[in-house]
Amino acid sequence: MRIAVIGTGYVGLVAGTCFAESGNTVTCVDIDEDKIRRLREGQVPIYEPGLEELLKRNVADDRLHFTTKYEEAIPGADAVFIAVGTPPDEDGSADLQYVLAAAQMVAENMDGYTVIVDKSTVPVGTARKVKDRASQHTSHPFDVVSNPEFLKEGAAIDDFLKPDRVVIGSESQKAAEVMDELYAPFVRTGNPIIHMDIESAELTKYAANAMLATRISFMNEIANICNRVGANVDKVRKGIGSDARIGSRFLFAGLGYGGSCFPKDVKAVVRTAQDADYDFKILKAVEDVNERQKRMLYEMVDEHFGGDLAGKKFAVWGLAFKPNTDDMREAPAVVVIKALLEAGATVTAYDPEAMEEAQHRHLGDTVTYAKTPMDALDGSDALILVTEWNEFRRPDFDAVKERMAGTVIFDGRNIYSRKRLEESGFTYYGIGT
Ligand code: NAD
Repeated sequence: MRIAVIGTGYVGLVAGTCFAESGNTVTCVDIDEDKIRRLREGQVPIYEPGLEELLKRNVADDRLHFTTKYEEAIPGADAVFIAVGTPPDEDGSADLQYVLAAAQMVAENMDGYTVIVDKSTVPVGTARKVKDRASQHTSHPFDVVSNPEFLKEGAAIDDFLKPDRVVIGSESQKAAEVMDELYAPFVRTGNPIIHMDIESAELTKYAANAMLATRISFMNEIANICNRVGANVDKVRKGIGSDARIGSRFLFAGLGYGGSCFPKDVKAVVRTAQDADYDFKILKAVEDVNERQKRMLYEMVDEHFGGDLAGKKFAVWGLAFKPNTDDMREAPAVVVIKALLEAGATVTAYDPEAMEEAQHRHLGDTVTYAKTPMDALDGSDALILVTEWNEFRRPDFDAVKERMAGTVIFDGRNIYSRKRLEESGFTYYGIGT
């Protein structure tokens, strides 16, 4: 099949590459000329394990193309996936201007029946808006389908090629069949393609992210109680996770959720509920807990140093909002670091992939970027672990101690053993451990 993908971000680039990998001819469109230029030169603008190799192979095999011009991608396409950003508006609702602009451009360039697929995470009712906008700009027949994406950054290729499930919301049999054919290669092992009405498909994505965010905030609250009553959240986690009704995944306490999806999607559900005259109390609390949690480590640091951080030097390990990505949108590291800087401290940071992103978009030159994790430690009063990259899991703590001026470790992801660190002469702080 011929496919076009609009937007070459984490979702669009992965989807486009994977659809090319399964034998389709794919053209990816983005309005960011620099991104398209880099992609055409074989440079992958984001860090996502496995993506570069797959992308280069499909470009070389002439199945994957990049352009800024809709007129090169849309005519002749059987399906067009809209995968542009849907950032939160000021009132928390999803800003649909990019989705609707893309829909219009797709409609203006269609030359026959086309399936327009909403891949971006969009509120209930968006497919109708896309349909309205598109129909004002074409006389060709088309259907709009909702096909929310569940991939996780850091494991996106695997998630796309082997999805737990594919959700398709459609009111047209013809469009549903096109989607089934496209996804058939990815569900050979029997994972389901779940068909439903468009509104339910749109809400499914938000419900999934809202549930996951709720688990995180719930466990963070349990951790905060653990800190106060002398319990250990890791033990509680194992204790409840072995209950099949609860399950063991997504129960880790830490510094709160970040990234481009959970924060904005939780906001969007609260807003959707409000618009429908419903007060979604649980999700409002989930948000509040998360904001408080992002500052938790800073509060611990401040208390440890008696409220005086002026002139103190901190090493921060990890900047990305989670391991295996360079994405720093809504990353807890930004909150922790800005609070430290405001209090008059200095920060030297290290992240295996996100330092360029941090410097260009989030922190500029307000912090020093180290070449290695060990270099970040030199002369620091404390080490603050923010993102649990594998390479931070088993450092040589004797060497760590030698490079630092102080002996305190704040572990924002509970990856170290208190016992082990205290035996090595460190003062250890965890989140509920
Ligand atoms: P992103 O910000 O990384 O990428 C969006 C891209 O769209 C950018 O490159 C931008 O230049 C381009 N764009 C904007 N307007 C355009 C237009 N009119 N025409 C062509 N290109 C245009 O976004 P992302 O993280 O890939 O997310 C995209 C959507 O998918 C969002 O709705 C998001 O909620 C959803 N989603 C994201 C993830 C994730 O893990 N990142 C997972 C599932 C779903």
